[in-house]
Amino acid sequence: MKKVSLNKEKCIGCGSCTNIASENFSYSDEGKAELINDNVTDKAIEASEVCPTEAIEIVEQDTKSINFKSERCIGCGNCVNIAPNNFKFNDEGKAELINEEITDEVKKASAHCPTEAILFTTNENSEK
Ligand code: SF4
Ligand code: SF4
Repeated sequence: MKKVSLNKEKCIGCGSCTNIASENFSYSDEGKAELINDNVTDKAIEASEVCPTEAIEIVEQDTKSINFKSERCIGCGNCVNIAPNNFKFNDEGKAELINEEITDEVKKASAHCPTEAILFTTNENSEK
């Protein structure tokens, strides 16, 4: 599925998107566009095409999630050390997933897990 993405850093506040697609964009107090709805409508697509700074993009929705195979864990501790916000040790001395947010640390922990216990699932159910 796709969604509308707005890069506020690029916005110069020209007002085109808020005029064209008022259901998607409003004007913030800073005089910049603000995304109020990320549904991909014909008007949102038009706004992305006329935006002079390419601040608006139609992107794939990131539906990746962590697919943690706890049965594979040998308790080496790599993930707990690298991504303590996401993993902790349980009473059995194995890693436990405590936060499903995918951060750079989680990606690093996945790369350093010796048993490939930390995988990612995408919307197509493929494992990476
Ligand atoms: S069209 Fe682009 S530059 Fe203009 S207000 Fe919208 S996001 Fe900002
Ligand atoms: S890195 Fe892998 S094997 Fe090591 S504690 Fe974490 S999940 Fe278990």
